[in-house]
Amino acid sequence: MSAPETNMTQIARRMLSAKAEQFTESVIREMTRLAMKHNAVNLSQGFPDFAAPEEIKEAARQAISDDINQYAITWGAKPLRDAIVEKFARTQHATYDPEREITICCGSTEAMMSAMMAIINPGDEIVVFEPFYENYGPDAILSGATPRFVKMRPPDPQNENSTWSFDERELAAAFGPHTKAIILNTPNNPTGKVFTRQELEFIRDLCVRWNAFCITDEIYEHILYDATEHISMACIDGMRGRTIVINGMSKTYSVTGWRVGWAIAPPEPTQAIRKVHDFLTVGAAAPLQQAGAIALRSPQSYYDGLAATYAKKRERLLKILSSAGFTVFKPRGAYYIMTDIARFQFPERDPRFASESKDVAFAKYLVQEIGIACVPGSSFYNDAQDGASQVRFTFCKREETLAAAEARFAKLSV
Ligand code: GLN
Repeated sequence: MSAPETNMTQIARRMLSAKAEQFTESVIREMTRLAMKHNAVNLSQGFPDFAAPEEIKEAARQAISDDINQYAITWGAKPLRDAIVEKFARTQHATYDPEREITICCGSTEAMMSAMMAIINPGDEIVVFEPFYENYGPDAILSGATPRFVKMRPPDPQNENSTWSFDERELAAAFGPHTKAIILNTPNNPTGKVFTRQELEFIRDLCVRWNAFCITDEIYEHILYDATEHISMACIDGMRGRTIVINGMSKTYSVTGWRVGWAIAPPEPTQAIRKVHDFLTVGAAAPLQQAGAIALRSPQSYYDGLAATYAKKRERLLKILSSAGFTVFKPRGAYYIMTDIARFQFPERDPRFASESKDVAFAKYLVQEIGIACVPGSSFYNDAQDGASQVRFTFCKREETLAAAEARFAKLSV
């Protein structure tokens, strides 16, 4: 039994890509599988457990009935590209050419990957704020970029008005002659930070000084609280020509499984993005792109309703988590709550939960013993120890789901 296995392992190691060896499977996606295995309330991966809007589902059904069953144009169906351009003009007052500046991809995940592969050369560096959305790590490895991480510091939980912040000198020090791009995510996953105009202008000055791109992931643009405003980096003076905006249908229209995302960028990077995208995936699902064209023309009341619904869910989960003993960092946007778990005593050394990092042990304990799935904080940091006292919860869930979590937290003691 063991001899052939050893043999296989040796062959596998020699045959596999050194790049793929440098990262693990997604912890976020793994937590969903663990939630299913342990029949836990899933507050880990950020996908809604409620229905998508009826009009959008109907548009997808109609598109299939209308026989939109073959490949769309590889860089995206024209009706959706037109709708993206119209919506960006309406919300951000920026004009783009749907023929030369839009690429529709299989989710914003592919749009980000295609954008990075389109601009990165060996030796290039990218600046990434930490904590960061897990995907950006493997994105950097696969595209060959060297990441330079810049820490965001958590808000003071005693001060309602404080937010996650970064040190301007540290950010400036991360830029240099090898910087190809900064990766921005606003509203931010996992922190809920919404970057202000002043912060964006500071970043702009560095991008201009070092001739760098900004790739800005704006997938949570409509999920905002406390009267915060989403400003796209593409609209900051001097940035249109060096910004690649990544976005998609997933979060705004509650259709994370449709896999429809896009990149908005000037013609030169778009040409490169389109080539990478074409040979990676050819194209996103044609009938769902058709439905996207309808979705993006939703009235303003739809977006207001979405933000209002999430504002209630945010309040609900903030209360549940605080009562359960977590230190909570109130998000200003997106649908996650980062928490600190320093106060919890739990059987950390029990072999069932034992792990090199406390947050991972806690997440295992929580999913197996309490029946709630969260994401360990270390998956958002380059050095696992930096996230060892944090875990992330999502509140893009039905009231019944949040109530079930509340009931289960009663078993958790501080
Ligand atoms: N953005 C979501 C999260 O952070 C997950 C996205 C995904 O799994 N592709 O939970």
